[in-house]
Amino acid sequence: MLPWTFWQAGGRIRDNSVMEAGFQCAGCGEWNATTVDPSAGGRLSYVEDCQVCCKPNVLRAQYDASADEFFITAELE
Ligand SMILES: [Zn+2]
Repeated sequence: MLPWTFWQAGGRIRDNSVMEAGFQCAGCGEWNATTVDPSAGGRLSYVEDCQVCCKPNVLRAQYDASADEFFITAELE
């Protein structure tokens, strides 16, 4: 049986790291790569500037446990 710490490090959720994610800019429609911090909880809301058009996007990330993914919706501030 593997030590708990090993299992945790190899698991899908790592409390002390960030997960890769992305969002589609609400202004120009370009895809932006970003990261979310699972330790902040299942619901996240923050502002991030589009890497293409520099418009601030209000992002809302929600963790879907069944898909093991974050879904991010973006709207202009
Ligand atoms: Zn944009």
